[in-house]
Amino acid sequence: MKAMLLSEYKKLAITEMPTPPIADDEVLVRVRACGICGSDIHGYDGSTGRRIPPLVMGHEAAGEIEHVGAAVKEFRAGDRVTFDSTVSCGRCEYCKAGQINLCDNRMVLGVSCGDYRRHGAFAEYVAVPERILYKLPANLPFERAALIEAVSVAVHAVSLKVPAPSDQVLVVGCGMIGLLVIQVLRAKGCTNVTVVDVDAGRMALAMTLGAAHALNGKDPDTPAAIRKLTGDQGADVAFEVVGSTETIMTAIRGVRKGGTVVLIGNLKPKVDLPLQEVVSRQLTLLGSCASSGEYPECIDLLASGAVDVRPLISLTAPLEDGPGLFERLHRGGEGLMKVVLQP
Ligand SMILES: [Zn+2]
Ligand SMILES: [Zn+2]
Repeated sequence: MKAMLLSEYKKLAITEMPTPPIADDEVLVRVRACGICGSDIHGYDGSTGRRIPPLVMGHEAAGEIEHVGAAVKEFRAGDRVTFDSTVSCGRCEYCKAGQINLCDNRMVLGVSCGDYRRHGAFAEYVAVPERILYKLPANLPFERAALIEAVSVAVHAVSLKVPAPSDQVLVVGCGMIGLLVIQVLRAKGCTNVTVVDVDAGRMALAMTLGAAHALNGKDPDTPAAIRKLTGDQGADVAFEVVGSTETIMTAIRGVRKGGTVVLIGNLKPKVDLPLQEVVSRQLTLLGSCASSGEYPECIDLLASGAVDVRPLISLTAPLEDGPGLFERLHRGGEGLMKVVLQP
């Protein structure tokens, strides 16, 4: 099969590779669309240590089943599917409790980190266990379905602290996931969503996708503006979707006493925490990791149009364009949001 192989850091090429064999409980998926994730870009240059070459990356994908293993029950060749990026074991205590994102034996497709190597979906074919597969409705194109993984990150984060429709909500960061969090909040009936970003284009997009107010994080008046917009108290809930000291500070200072900050972004491994503000104002900080079984809800949100990923897809391109696009995204991306490759 044709695959895009990371043979060494910053070295991607389209290569012939053996089609992956499948176990009895796995299916072989003919990949039709696979999104380039920010984590792939950070892995491509070796900065995260989670894409140790040689590796086929790619964990945001959709396609058709080519054939199924002997023990597969619910799926057949020809089914249109997407799959979780997390390969959970299905046996550990976390899996049994439905917390598959916390699986003790968790592997991520298209990741190689020293503990394991699992080739991903920047290829014609990928092998996937049945337990992480989901059927797609006929009216949902593969390119949009490839973004379900990102939608699931937003849906999971909001599920950890669902604001009441009348609550004041703050979203710090209007990148891909932030813009999805805004749409998921809107789908849950939240009308008082204030967003903070530093990019005028993304702030404008946030407004069209459901935010009521957009503030520039670089503006020194922004903390005061957040207070004013949230009844002088601060927001009830904040979703932090960047992961740096500055933005976490904005989220923590933007919520009211007793408020909750859901932490999704993790750009930096460590940040400064205003400990006394968190303790004396009795804030709840919640970490949110990936997703745990929210795919059916995400598929419904996309199929119904409640969440629209079309404005987030900057470009779809054949797999052959992948190496050049990785280079371009690594240089800063020139305003590209989601790029979807079609193997
Ligand atoms: Zn990703
Ligand atoms: Zn497990």
